[in-house]
Amino acid sequence: MVLGKSPGKKSRIPFCSSLTDAIVKIYKTTICGTDLHILKGDVPQVTDGRILGHEGIGIIEEVGSAVTTFQKGDKVLISCISSCGKCTYCRKGMYSHCEQGGWILGHIIDDAQAEYVRIPFSATHTINSQEKDAVKEVFGLTENVGADVAVEAVGIPATFDLCTAVIAPGGRIANVGVHGKPVELHLETLWSKNITITTRLVDTVTTPMLMKTVLSNKLDGKKLITHHFALNDIMQAYDTFANAARENALKVILTSE
Ligand code: ZN
Ligand code: ZN
Repeated sequence: MVLGKSPGKKSRIPFCSSLTDAIVKIYKTTICGTDLHILKGDVPQVTDGRILGHEGIGIIEEVGSAVTTFQKGDKVLISCISSCGKCTYCRKGMYSHCEQGGWILGHIIDDAQAEYVRIPFSATHTINSQEKDAVKEVFGLTENVGADVAVEAVGIPATFDLCTAVIAPGGRIANVGVHGKPVELHLETLWSKNITITTRLVDTVTTPMLMKTVLSNKLDGKKLITHHFALNDIMQAYDTFANAARENALKVILTSE
């Protein structure tokens, strides 16, 4: 079951096209905010008909003959990033820029819809910027200093702007969101603030650490899951996730029977 950029396309039956491939039967998958950006046209490398989704849990059906660390029947977590583990970037822990892989699943090659999470757990105060002046609230909470770290996780100019407006001197703006439009960078106010802006395509290098925090109950992944759908109801799941505010949706789980 598939969602292509042109919905309604039938699933292609995969096969191990390389000795190092594995075929995984998808058991659970999700819709990522990135998928919504793709449907909006923000990631033009994704061509029509592409099967979206780049995270999932499944069972290995088949492995290529050069695969030595996994075998048929293994339950596996699929990351959005594919890494060879050997190239210069992989050795630096920058799997997202792997010379052989990187972000290819659901981007330039097909994948199934899937799940893994990048939600900060750190929160003590929640500010709804539609109801309150977020800049004023953040300065109020921080004795007029601003935020040491601002994470931009949406990928639109307004939220990037907000991050630059609330950042404290010496602070760090971490951009996570997928941007389809340019943003305005207010250097006229930022130049003297000693701030750092970082960007990064998720590297999945911390996934094993994330798995450990879930297994040791330090992180309760279940709290993030607000909706369940059968994989066949994926269009309904997309509608729910695309209207997250209306539906109170955080993360949707799609289960393949
Ligand atoms: Zn994603
Ligand atoms: Zn690599």
